[in-house]
Amino acid sequence: MSLAKLKFLYKTLVLENAQNPQHHVEKLPADYEEVTLHNPTCGDTINLGVKFKDGKIVDAVFNGDGCSISQASASLMTTAVHGQQIDDIQKMAETFSTMVMGGKIDKQAAAQLGDAAVMANVAEFPARIKCATMSWHAVEELIKRYQS
Ligand code: ZN
Repeated sequence: MSLAKLKFLYKTLVLENAQNPQHHVEKLPADYEEVTLHNPTCGDTINLGVKFKDGKIVDAVFNGDGCSISQASASLMTTAVHGQQIDDIQKMAETFSTMVMGGKIDKQAAAQLGDAAVMANVAEFPARIKCATMSWHAVEELIKRYQS
């Protein structure tokens, strides 16, 4: 895919997911594990709720507010982790961090992220990296708690 096409895809997906986020709920279900994270540099907030079962995340929902990158990334993240094993999700979170900081990731790792891989474009905007990684840090935090 050409760079111009990738950028177009990024803009389209960020806009779509920010305007019409997937797995966005008014209220997190009471029986879900939840965490709230803030990104003070941009004013973003995310409340993530996750349902674990047998070492997997069987559902992930969120609400919150902030810039379109933070909300789009949360939407893409909840889609990416749905039904995945927690050790795979930890790898995905690492891949995602490396990617948005401009590091090299292999094709297989990118494929595992699905649409969330378009967030690689955030590497061009260092001030927005935290907006993109916040939701992945939230899911990592809930996994840590689940494992302990
Ligand atoms: Zn932001």
